Amino acid sequence: MKLIFLGPPGAGKGTISQRLVRKEGMVQISAGDLLREAVKKQTALGMKAKSYMEKGELVPDQLVIDLMVERVRRPDCKRGFILDGFPRTIAQAEALQRNKIPIDTVVNFTVAEETLIRRLSGRRMHRITGEIFNIHTLPPPPGTKEADLIQRPDDKPEAIKKRIEVYKRETLPLIDFYEREGKLVNVDGEGSSEKVLQGVLKAIA
Ligand code: AMP
Repeated sequence: MKLIFLGPPGAGKGTISQRLVRKEGMVQISAGDLLREAVKKQTALGMKAKSYMEKGELVPDQLVIDLMVERVRRPDCKRGFILDGFPRTIAQAEALQRNKIPIDTVVNFTVAEETLIRRLSGRRMHRITGEIFNIHTLPPPPGTKEADLIQRPDDKPEAIKKRIEVYKRETLPLIDFYEREGKLVNVDGEGSSEKVLQGVLKAIA
């Protein structure tokens, strides 16, 4: 299955992707994770992307397009993939078409804005495994060291506000774009990750 996970920041795209990786052996390609890795390794791309990411702005299209197209063409994606957080602009969606990367279904996660803010401000990432937890709703397993749980710089209040604004302006138009293509399915992203996962499995069945 070739899937796109679409939705605002904090909608659960990353969490559900990780669960599908564990449960169904799917391949998750997270634009945000790849960019964060590039920043950490201080590659040329990472150096260019860093300031945009910290402010909650989108990294310029061409940088993200090149990164994702190269990644999707690797052999582990032959049987399918989840594009998590890509495309985020119409130009990125058009780049997928231009590069003849087929998509079966676009899962659009719908979540109220107050839920997004609560989730993002409580979100913590495990420094080593990259696993995502939430201090309010999805606490890490007992024994996890507090020092290993980090808050992303863009999960701070100012950047959260900016990211939601950017989502509305740049990414929301993709809902119409994929609806017109007959590929969009909406999934209620409220509630527990188990409930949302069941909704996604039903939608892509
Ligand atoms: P995420 O982990 O999906 O929340 O992404 C974190 C940050 O990475 C975003 O706020 C953007 O700065 C950048 N980013 C992730 N995906 C994209 C994309 N498709 N296009 C441009 N920037 C992106």
